[in-house]
Amino acid sequence: MARLVLKFGGTSVATIERIRNVARHVEREVKAGHQVAVVVSAMSGTTNQLVTWVKEASEFYDPREYDAVVASGEQITSGLLAIVLQSIGIKARSWQGWQIPLNTDDSHGAASIQDFTGDRLIAGMDSGEVAVIAGFQGVASNERIATLGRGGSDTSAVAIAAAVKADRCDIYTDVDGVYTTDPRVVAKAQRIERIAYEEMLEMASLGAKVLQVRSVEMAMVHRVPVYVRSSFDAPDASNWNGTLVCDEDEIMESQVVTGIAFSKDEAKITLVQVADKPGVAAKVFGPLADASINVDMIVQNVSSDGKTTDMTFTVPAAEFARAMDVLTKAKSEIGYGELRGDKDVVKVSCIGVGMRTHAGVAVKMFKALAERGINIQAITTSEIKISILIEAAYTELAVRTLHTLYDLDKV
Ligand code: ADP
Ligand code: ASP
Ligand code: MG
Repeated sequence: MARLVLKFGGTSVATIERIRNVARHVEREVKAGHQVAVVVSAMSGTTNQLVTWVKEASEFYDPREYDAVVASGEQITSGLLAIVLQSIGIKARSWQGWQIPLNTDDSHGAASIQDFTGDRLIAGMDSGEVAVIAGFQGVASNERIATLGRGGSDTSAVAIAAAVKADRCDIYTDVDGVYTTDPRVVAKAQRIERIAYEEMLEMASLGAKVLQVRSVEMAMVHRVPVYVRSSFDAPDASNWNGTLVCDEDEIMESQVVTGIAFSKDEAKITLVQVADKPGVAAKVFGPLADASINVDMIVQNVSSDGKTTDMTFTVPAAEFARAMDVLTKAKSEIGYGELRGDKDVVKVSCIGVGMRTHAGVAVKMFKALAERGINIQAITTSEIKISILIEAAYTELAVRTLHTLYDLDKV
């Protein structure tokens, strides 16, 4: 007997018929003798609707009430799945975040999960009852409902798997695994059999939204094996495809580049003619840090007069207006000629643990993009990834080019 956590995303619970399908997956595991906890998302589209209503109600909303509203989508699906399971003769009950209790910090809207015990869930499962848990939510120290940020049900699932010491966490979604790049954008994308935690963390952080970033961090820290698979596979199929997210040592063969991610959630800012002297970077990035704005890629050019420099960097698109405002206000303090902003950019990243031992990956990338006439505006690298910033119109061309370049079309 194993203890399993199964998570079903929004598309997988979008209608009562699909919830019945989810129940059949649960039934299969229960009949195989496993203890099962299920984590559900809200029906697809529901959370967006709830967020819209909050914003319509008031532009300056109380974040605690935002959470009270947006957490309700998962409350509905947890109850519905429990009802459907009971109707097919499986003992089940729903659990809201506060009933577990799944503790979080007080950052409403994007709360982080704190230590919590799975004792109540375990006691329920020991009594032969399937635990149907509302994902995306917990309870903050002020005893108010807190949500975990968009896509947060993945993190609920992995956290619960760690807390109940589950043997595996199965993430059921609308694709049958993690692909070499978003399969909805590149038809030649291939399913990856096994991917290392570190690679998955980079893929998710750099734009592959198949798993929420924090869920991968959590899986890596607690060594939870995560299996990504499709809820649309026949519940009674004997063999199914998927992707195991696991330790690097458990992967036999690996490519130099495992996957390509891209994110349009970037904005580029350039400060023209900043003084080229010690302390200037601190003057530029200090006010942004004070405003909790994360700066990602940074490029600095020495200009021809040798006295001033142009400084280019990226911030999350959602923070663009605020960043421009902060820099405008700090103009006299920083001392620059002109402030330029551009939201029409995309960050494309190649990821793979094989880069640790292979040189020349970046050069190959730069050459291939140059041949396609794609101009690189900024570059960052780390041990296992290279990211470039380009004009958004070239996203698909760049991703396809790199996908072919690194032999990912035919894995
Ligand atoms: P869920 O509602 O089940 O949580 P999401 O929409 O959050 O599902 O995540 C699944 C989607 O992630 C897929 O439909 C796919 O378009 C997208 N995606 C982006 N990059 C990848 C990738 N590398 N592999 C698989 N899916 C990806
Ligand atoms: N329902 C939430 C969202 O849409 C959480 C999730 O689906 O993971 O972001
Ligand atoms: Mg998701």
